Amino acid sequence: MESALTARDRVGVQDFVLLENHTSEVAFIENLRKRFKENLIYTYIGSVLVSVNPYKDLEIYTKQHMERYRGVNFYEVSPHIYAVSDNAYRSMRTERRDQCILISGESGAGKTEASKKVLQYYAVTCPASDQVQTVKDRLLQSNPVLEAFGNAKTLRNDNSSRFGKYMDIQFDFKGAPVGGHILNYLLEKSRVVHQSHGERNFHIFYQLIEGGEEDLLRRLGLERNTQQYQYLIKGNCPKVSSINDRSDWKAVRKALTVIGFNEDEVEELLNIIASVLHLGNVQFGGEDSGNAYITTDTQIKYLARLIGVDSSVLKEALTHKKITAKGEELMSPLNQEQASSARDALSKAIYGRTFTWLVNKINDSLAYQNTSVIGLLDIYGFEVFQNNSFEQFCINYCNEKLQQLFIELTLKSEQEEYEAEGITWEPVQYFNNKIICDLVEEKFKGIISILDEECLRPGDASDITFLQKLEDTVGGHAHFLTHKLADGKTRKVMGRDEFRLLHYAGEVNYNVNGFLDKNNDLLFRNLKEVMCMSENKILTQCFDREELTDKKRPETTATQFKTSLTKLMEILMSKEPSYVRCMKPNDAKQAGRFDEVLIRHQVKYLGLMENLRVRRAGFAYRRRYEIFLQRYKSLCPDTWPNWDGRLVDGVSTLVKHLGYKPEEYKLGRSKIFIRFPKTLFATEDALEV
Ligand code: ATP
Ligand code: MG
Repeated sequence: MESALTARDRVGVQDFVLLENHTSEVAFIENLRKRFKENLIYTYIGSVLVSVNPYKDLEIYTKQHMERYRGVNFYEVSPHIYAVSDNAYRSMRTERRDQCILISGESGAGKTEASKKVLQYYAVTCPASDQVQTVKDRLLQSNPVLEAFGNAKTLRNDNSSRFGKYMDIQFDFKGAPVGGHILNYLLEKSRVVHQSHGERNFHIFYQLIEGGEEDLLRRLGLERNTQQYQYLIKGNCPKVSSINDRSDWKAVRKALTVIGFNEDEVEELLNIIASVLHLGNVQFGGEDSGNAYITTDTQIKYLARLIGVDSSVLKEALTHKKITAKGEELMSPLNQEQASSARDALSKAIYGRTFTWLVNKINDSLAYQNTSVIGLLDIYGFEVFQNNSFEQFCINYCNEKLQQLFIELTLKSEQEEYEAEGITWEPVQYFNNKIICDLVEEKFKGIISILDEECLRPGDASDITFLQKLEDTVGGHAHFLTHKLADGKTRKVMGRDEFRLLHYAGEVNYNVNGFLDKNNDLLFRNLKEVMCMSENKILTQCFDREELTDKKRPETTATQFKTSLTKLMEILMSKEPSYVRCMKPNDAKQAGRFDEVLIRHQVKYLGLMENLRVRRAGFAYRRRYEIFLQRYKSLCPDTWPNWDGRLVDGVSTLVKHLGYKPEEYKLGRSKIFIRFPKTLFATEDALEV
């Protein structure tokens, strides 16, 4: 038989806390590598789960596996996403505290797969009745629908989520899932009209064209050839070997029905998807005067029918813009280029708003009830590309906020709690990224405020004047750089249209091109008016007439995002968090390949070494005295059935009776702190005897 020592040599330790040299990054990565080679993709840092994408089916998600983790303490079984799921569920049940599971990691690291595993675990293991079964089915089936409309093939991931998602799963007092609610964040709308080389548009377009029935396509005026559509050919990537658009289409159709869409709603939804494709094929010619005119009448005919608007009104709206001069409304002609970008703006608005409608519709079907919840966050990880734009700026800002939350919830609160409880321990140094969050979001002087200011300013405002204003306002900030050096010289490695942020996770250069347009996200008023006239019921819900009379400027994209992130942080702060940190082992989406450089980079920006240091320094568990006594008082004759004295003395008597050694615990002002999980587990087990 293999001795314990050689087994550890071979498969590493299942909790990084047990590493002998816990400050060594080399040892950390070596442990990950050993486990990965043995198909052990999960490892803990205390209660944080670290996961490495295996890029193959490991058969560790069967019903038997679920049973193995059900109701079992964290440390008694090997690390698994099911253990995290079960632990959150039990904490919710026994302590009546809302939970959240925060899943992070870069694109392709396995966040969405992890969140699906959590949901499946609850669907299978939680109690059910007929009514609950309907909710379970809807919760599960919301995934294929949202993925069809919100995911796409990118260079990094064949099924990349192009939106952030936070989902509450609600449980009744028996612990059965009875409802849910989804919040969505910043869909990457630009993908509707443009894709980089090797990437695709959102899955739904290909699914409809490849899988849609003959008469459906005929009705929508679509050909069964994705190459016919301008919006689908930009990335030159019609097919993906790992994706079967036809069978996915069937799954999505079925899922829509399970969620409760009726035939009319599905028809209107598909009319919209087809409309976007037709819109993309609308082309413009230029008259001698420079004014644009439409050269593709067939597309207009289909559009008019599918959207339910008059074709001449639509034509005029696509080639003109309404302006008010001297109190009078005039239609001012657009040139070819302006007309194309107005068309694209319309496509993005239609798709983006329909996506939000879809999320709302799913929410309606998941009767929302205010009970105990477990929240699941699957949101884009830190992104650094060759060329980084407004989208990366927003995404990385989001990651700064999540890091802030992580600091607030774990590092900082951990230290503060020890202090408040009068427990002595070694403080751990960590970098607090609040300074970067402020740089981005502070009122009046943060980057978003400055961007909004430039968006509002009439006249010569441009991406470059925005950059200049940044230099003037935050130029001296320790985490901000441009090509200008303090001594008036030029930093050669940076372009004149770039700024660099020193994020907690690393440096990123952002190119300001397009920042103003993307932040404004303008849609000409007359196009809005046309959409309000639509006979398509979904579109009339998406384009509200009130918007037309509202004199207030709509909020900019960045400000909306900032507001929704602030709300998200509040939601998460009110819950007890569990963390899943996902990593990708290589850039080739291949099984069995462990690229050390890539892994090291992720270990760094996920802050795993820092996380481990804090964990090693601290106490694994803490419980308020009254809760601890209440739960375990039956284990000691002196505390059973009631302890009359001071709580701290009761707990002290109890743990001495249980044989806790002095180094295993400390007594604070209101709580007991337990250093090792195994101590608490032994006590838990004693309850069951
Ligand atoms: P993005 O940020 O782009 O949305 P992501 O982190 O959500 O990325 P996923 O879509 O979850 O990444 O995973 C990418 C792919 O990796 C999956 O389609 C699947 O092929 C594979 N994968 C991820 N997790 C696992 C797993 N636990 N077991 C097997 N394969 C996995
Ligand atoms: Mg994803």
